[in-house]
Amino acid sequence: MEFTNIAYVLAAILFILGIKKLSSPKTARKGNAISSVGMLIAIVATLVSDGNMDYQTIAVGMIIGAVIGAFFAIKVEMTQMPQMVAIFNGFGGGASALVAAAEYFNPANPSTFNAATIAISVFVGTLTFTGSFIAFGKLQGFISGKPIVFPGQKIMNAFIAISIVLLGIYTVMGGDTDPYFYGLVILAALIGITLTIPIGGADMPVVISLLNSYSGVAAAATGFVLMNNGLIIAGALVGASGLILTNIMCKGMNRSLANVIFGAVGLEQPIGDGETKQISVKSSTTEEAAMILDAADKVIVVPGYGLAVAQAQHAVREVGEQLESMGKKVLYAIHPVAGRMPGHMNVLLAEANVPYEQLKDLDEINGEFETCDVAIVLGANDVVNPAARHDTSSPIYGMPILDVDKSKTVLVNKRTMNPGFAGIQNELFGFENTLMVFGDAKDMLTTLHKDLKEL
Ligand code: NDP
Repeated sequence: MEFTNIAYVLAAILFILGIKKLSSPKTARKGNAISSVGMLIAIVATLVSDGNMDYQTIAVGMIIGAVIGAFFAIKVEMTQMPQMVAIFNGFGGGASALVAAAEYFNPANPSTFNAATIAISVFVGTLTFTGSFIAFGKLQGFISGKPIVFPGQKIMNAFIAISIVLLGIYTVMGGDTDPYFYGLVILAALIGITLTIPIGGADMPVVISLLNSYSGVAAAATGFVLMNNGLIIAGALVGASGLILTNIMCKGMNRSLANVIFGAVGLEQPIGDGETKQISVKSSTTEEAAMILDAADKVIVVPGYGLAVAQAQHAVREVGEQLESMGKKVLYAIHPVAGRMPGHMNVLLAEANVPYEQLKDLDEINGEFETCDVAIVLGANDVVNPAARHDTSSPIYGMPILDVDKSKTVLVNKRTMNPGFAGIQNELFGFENTLMVFGDAKDMLTTLHKDLKEL
């Protein structure tokens, strides 16, 4: 036991060091490796701590899990990573709920404390499982990204929540608790769905990070069920870091957590009517764009989800380097919710070796647009939509945006006039100083690079 706990402390130190290193793209890979070693130590310590384990079943489970995990990690496209993360969160919650449920049926452990931790773990784990699958559906596109709302939804959620509390109390009180336990599982699954469907497109980053945090809370609760210190520490770290991330996402969206969780945004604010308005845009070619860039001194690149779809990170770095070789100052503006997962743009640009010093956060960069000659918006839409500043009926109203429209010229690249994730039109595209360069981001940037070189 002593040996196991020492191993868990060592693992915890490695987890914390790993998380610290994840805070910068420069050290993130090392952080991942350090945390993995911590997890390996924790797993080995757990496996050798109890000689009575059924190692055969454990080995079969580990092999099946490793094959499925490795298969998806290799096969899934970079653009589908957010969905994969959502599913993995869900599986984490589901696994915690299953382990806790197994302990519920274990007559050797009848204490009230044990029953309470089981109820909490099953509740949070099941909610995380179903909520994550809804998030997966919204990211994958087979569930509408818009808020799904109906009359009486909040009252229904409140009713389910109160029922869950009562069922949890009855489950803990003892006696024939099976009906209450099953009721708890069903309602936890239901509330995972009903709390996630009303959350509108642009608010999804908050939900994803919150579900990530819940999966940690469920694991920590299961740690208490099993009285396993390693699981308690690991779960608490995931829960706490998930909450910190949620807070960052809330700030990025300028939303309060309660506002997002209880679907207030979707319920109380009608969706903007931007979808029906006609915007007249000026379309341009890459040759014209190259000439405009040739005359610029300061260029700010604004990457968005479309850049990830096009896998144009290397192409954008080449264009950036070309502009620098022509004597221009080049910066990259990173919005906290650009892309489809927290840190998406940082990861993408780091992969292409874009210098970290050129990546600027929203707060750092927004003051720079006024003195910027050309802002190049690449597959970004919601994060540069000025409606967030003034249109109180817009679902993104109040979200801080990148002030690209303050630049002398804005070059916007996307394939069509289709809206972004929030499903709303962007008036920026019709602004006097905006020029659209239609096409796939990678193709456009590759041609632009050639045009710049030929100048
Ligand atoms: P958006 O989703 O607003 O817009 C992406 C744009 O990229 C679309 O308008 C699309 O237009 C264009 N696009 C798609 N493919 C290509 C391509 N191959 N080449 C060029 N353009 C392309 O992206 P943003 O990054 O601006 O905003 C992110 C949105 O996602 C926000 O609403 C955010 O809240 C939400 N979200 C963010 C998460 C996060 O954690 N970061 C998680 C979940 C949601 P077209 O089809 O015409 O080409």
